[in-house]
Amino acid sequence: MSLVPCPECKSPVSRKAVECPVCGEPDPSRRQSNWKWFVRLIGVAIIIGVGAYIWFMLVPDIREHGLFYNPNQ
Ligand SMILES: [Zn+2]
Repeated sequence: MSLVPCPECKSPVSRKAVECPVCGEPDPSRRQSNWKWFVRLIGVAIIIGVGAYIWFMLVPDIREHGLFYNPNQ
């Protein structure tokens, strides 16, 4: 069983709790999980963006000159 901090009173509440037993906040794990989902989405978007950037920056060079091409030589 995993505990999440209540968004209102910060006491640990079960993820499955329908409401916070301390302050009565309805569905205390909902905002937490939505926020994590949002952060994960941003993280994936950044990874895809950086990956696409590297791909489009490096792949033409690799295609043209081979994998061990060194632009300084
Ligand atoms: Zn609470």
